[in-house]
Amino acid sequence: MNLQERDKKVIWHPYTQMKGALPQLPIVKGDGVYLIDEQGKRYIDAVSSWWVNIHGHANARIAAKVSAQLLQLEHVIFAGFTHEPAVLLAEQLLPLLPGKQEKVFYSDNGSTAVEVALKMTFQYWSNQGNTSRKKVLAFKDAYHGDTFGAMSVSGRSIFTDAFNDLLFDVEFIDLPCKENIENLQSIICSLQSELACFIFEPLILGAGGMQMYEAVYLDKLIEVCQENQILCIADEVMTGFGRTGTYFACEQLNSKPDLFCLSKGLTGGTMPLGVTTCNEKIFEAFLSDDKLKTLYHGHSFTANPVACAASLASLAILLEPQTLANIKRIETQHSLFRDKIAGHSKVKTIRQTGTIIAIEWQTGESTSYLSTLRDKLYTYFLSKGIVLRPLGNIIYILPPYIITNEELAYIYSTISRALDDI
Ligand SMILES: *Cc1c(COP(=O)(O)O)cnc(C)c1O
Repeated sequence: MNLQERDKKVIWHPYTQMKGALPQLPIVKGDGVYLIDEQGKRYIDAVSSWWVNIHGHANARIAAKVSAQLLQLEHVIFAGFTHEPAVLLAEQLLPLLPGKQEKVFYSDNGSTAVEVALKMTFQYWSNQGNTSRKKVLAFKDAYHGDTFGAMSVSGRSIFTDAFNDLLFDVEFIDLPCKENIENLQSIICSLQSELACFIFEPLILGAGGMQMYEAVYLDKLIEVCQENQILCIADEVMTGFGRTGTYFACEQLNSKPDLFCLSKGLTGGTMPLGVTTCNEKIFEAFLSDDKLKTLYHGHSFTANPVACAASLASLAILLEPQTLANIKRIETQHSLFRDKIAGHSKVKTIRQTGTIIAIEWQTGESTSYLSTLRDKLYTYFLSKGIVLRPLGNIIYILPPYIITNEELAYIYSTISRALDDI
């Protein structure tokens, strides 16, 4: 049996209807921006392997740190014990975040980073004896993860259909813009005494279709939330670590969120790690002689030293001038491409935030995540040696920062060809 057949016998893949599923492509090696299959065919990883890989695959500098850490200390229980990589990472991360973030709470993925932030905000209120602030404010098409709390604060969609009755109460609002901002502000004011927190993906809703919105209007929402004591959680799981052109998307805001959720690019895409950070106000609400005010949350692999070591190595690369120059270079290439194909008859809209560019395909049929166009496009790009995973009729490029202009040009020209051919 080959690997595909063995896989089919024993594995259940994520987001995959296993009945009639396309065979899973075995990858044997990663090399910078490329993934290499069993036949030696090379694919440009244009989606950074689900948005996690920022410095390319099999990065030697990260690998060296990971391997040294494995021989030094692979893991230790993180209650009652600590270690250098966790402390150093927190010391380096906190000053990079906008506002005054004071404490890091470790977990192991983006969804758990969100769960921790939600629990911090709910318990922030209950620790102060406030029993009325139990609702969350979130965007209609938000995506914050797949565990129950994270799913609850995500938009209702085909992903949540089977569970809708089990999800907790959320007030969903539209993305803010010039036309609706005053209305949204008055909704928030009218609900203020019920709202525990506002959770948002700054500047761009990722899984919700790469929907982009302006920093000024997010600022206005955060301002009105903070005037009404509603805690603000920036879910930068996707936008963090340079993705939107600044190290963190919230650097483009004037207001300062109270909590941040980070994961995906944190370890450079090497291994799972999640971080929730908070400001002093949140942390202080848990300090007490009363044991019931403790944040009773943790995971077996909280602050795994190897994952922290990978993050430190990834952060060092991110902070080098060359990486920021690469990010700016990708932004420029994207915007030139945007200008070039904006008028194409099959392009409904084209939008860009930092290193992310998204093209909405003009189609006659339903434009949902389940559209058949999606599978056609996916297979088309794969055959041309490019990994792109359209969200329904929306194609996006979200590349590792080391991608070259030539590699970008190849992706652009393949997209242009697809627009003509499909
Ligand atoms: C991917 C994502 C998550 C969930 O992270 P996982 O590691 O997949 O659980 C949460 N929030 C945002 C904005 C994301 O893009």
